Amino acid sequence: MKYISTRGGIAPISFKDAVMMGLATDGGLLLPQSLPKLSDKTIESWHNLEYQDLAYEVISLFTDDMPEADLRQLIAKSYASFTHPDITPVAKHGEVHILELFHGPTLAFKDVALQFLGNLFEYFLRADKARMNILGATSGDTGSAAIYGVRGKERIKIFILHPHKRVSPIQELQMTSVLDDNVFNLAIQGSFDSGQAIVKEIFNDLDFKKKHHLGAVNSINWARILAQIVYYVYSYFRVCNSEGSEQVDFTVPTGNFGDIFAGFLAKRLLTAKRIRRLVLATNENDILSRFVSQGVYATGDVSQTCSPSMDIQVASNFERYLYFLNDFDADRTRNDMESFAANAVLRFDSTACDRVNDDFVSQRVTEPEIIATIKSFYEKNNYVLDPHTAVGVTAGISHKDKLPMICLATAHPGKFGDVVGRAIGPQPLPDALAVLEGKKTRCEVIPAKSTVVKDFIERDDKL
Ligand SMILES: *Cc1c(COP(=O)(O)O)cnc(C)c1O
Repeated sequence: MKYISTRGGIAPISFKDAVMMGLATDGGLLLPQSLPKLSDKTIESWHNLEYQDLAYEVISLFTDDMPEADLRQLIAKSYASFTHPDITPVAKHGEVHILELFHGPTLAFKDVALQFLGNLFEYFLRADKARMNILGATSGDTGSAAIYGVRGKERIKIFILHPHKRVSPIQELQMTSVLDDNVFNLAIQGSFDSGQAIVKEIFNDLDFKKKHHLGAVNSINWARILAQIVYYVYSYFRVCNSEGSEQVDFTVPTGNFGDIFAGFLAKRLLTAKRIRRLVLATNENDILSRFVSQGVYATGDVSQTCSPSMDIQVASNFERYLYFLNDFDADRTRNDMESFAANAVLRFDSTACDRVNDDFVSQRVTEPEIIATIKSFYEKNNYVLDPHTAVGVTAGISHKDKLPMICLATAHPGKFGDVVGRAIGPQPLPDALAVLEGKKTRCEVIPAKSTVVKDFIERDDKL
């Protein structure tokens, strides 16, 4: 399987090169040149596979430069850090099925992809006798999943910027209690935006980037999407087996379009509308739900909500879907993205809209609705939803018909105790978070200046 850019500016590259490249060098996103075509017989043979075996079947369709034994071992290692034997268990609660994606080390769904990506990086760097310095900025939630993805790994160091004292105490502890030598928490005296600006500025210094082998773990890496396809396929079979159904719907709390794009690929792979449709659920930051319902992709102002990991203005993975919508026409996709960069809006004609609506329906979920859903779901089903999951569940319940509705649960409710507490009263902290209290921490507080961050990386890179 070879990989190309959505903007057509690179010659086809291997899976390994796609993983190590991250963002395509022409500014586009990397995608497989074509999607594998599976026979019904192959698909049916996956019905009862364990998560890791299914992960091998799915992932190996997209890699032809990794020996089977190595890939199997890498998958086993990636999911050994999960605390549930099913890795991503799915169970019925009331009228919907909840797919729990939060049994990884930081209790959020990003672990599913980042545990795998960290091991892939280590594997490829070892083969090349190379090394990498990962640099990223976090507003709180995703930094810890990235840190846990690479902690203790050979040939990798990670530098994560967070705004000093502006992330929740639990989020801060999740990051700074990781004491491995290759992990550097940098608390900057500034906002999240200034952290992001610093990272951007440093990545734009191409000499520095090259000299210090800078890499990123943001949601545009193809391997993250790939790892996420697995749980759609896994839960499809689990729910079909338990419900005696052959079709399901999914509802996905959506921010950067990464998770639901993996669902779109799963829908294509499984063929025959085994996945009938995907409910794209957003919070009040609704650029994507407006795209699905009105055929207009236009940025708005970002507002802060109680589901902060979905507070986005531009969805970084949207371009991948656009490439499909443009029938794999890279020139058209590049033109569209240039036009979007200039005008902050893209409009789609009715043919395109029909195709979008063949795969997706959407809903924007307001702040009061999120709180109301957490409360009513708890009262009816004695099950606690985190605010992101509640966005998906709200939309899922309103689009539920006779088919099973699988709701992706993207974070453990214990991570968002204050919001959950507002809906249903205080809940006990999960063990995985309670044990962090009082732990030893390591963190450098530094001014919000790119030169200071660069000095830090440079100094450490000499050691
Ligand atoms: C990142 C995140 C999302 C959104 O996923 P995208 O792939 O960005 O659409 C939803 N919920 C939680 C808890 C997240 O961390």
